[in-house]
Amino acid sequence: MDMDTVQVTPDIRMLRFPVGQAYLIGLPGGFALVDSGPAGSEQDILAALAAAGGAPGDLREIVLTHAHSDHTGSAAALAAATGARVAAGAADADAVRGSAQVPPPVLEQDWERALYERITPGVTQAPPAPVHRELADGDRLDWGLAARVLHVPGHTAGSVAVHLPELGVLFTGDTVAMGEGRPIPGVFSNDHVALAAAYARLAALDTATVLFGHGEPLTADGGAVLRAAAP
Ligand SMILES: [Zn+2]
Repeated sequence: MDMDTVQVTPDIRMLRFPVGQAYLIGLPGGFALVDSGPAGSEQDILAALAAAGGAPGDLREIVLTHAHSDHTGSAAALAAATGARVAAGAADADAVRGSAQVPPPVLEQDWERALYERITPGVTQAPPAPVHRELADGDRLDWGLAARVLHVPGHTAGSVAVHLPELGVLFTGDTVAMGEGRPIPGVFSNDHVALAAAYARLAALDTATVLFGHGEPLTADGGAVLRAAAP
């Protein structure tokens, strides 16, 4: 597995995989992870945790933004190695556990179908992972700083975003992606009408730093950039 690490803010590192990204967040007294990379990434992620000064037992929680395998792949191995709790949106929780499947995406455009056919064969099916906490809209994460969950169905039924209002940081999952220099509603989504509403809801937040499941972060005026690019 290749993974590289990009320091986005003093406390947030982006972990970049051949497909997709996860984020390691330094908390008061520990660490959290947003998404877990593809299957087989756990050693690289543990190395990133160590480089950030954390022991395995310092990883407190893994929040999965949705149940696609490029986001959930290493959650089971990381939970076993660290004792971290796993949290996911309630409507995606059974798919993370392996007892249900996310429906295939609705591919409306030829370019999106071509992209899907190119990328999907390279993504290994994620092993089933435990979900200790099913997240609902408005939930607060126990991170020692203000951290709010938004349930934003559309990409998948149980997609969630995480907003850190005091820091002006937003983790979008795949509700928004950075594609060719501008934010776009996430590809490979289940419900395009709901996705547009989800995009609008995230764009309306007061944020500076916006961190996507795929593509380069926005590190200043992120909310304004999302609003300007709204479909
Ligand atoms: Zn996805």
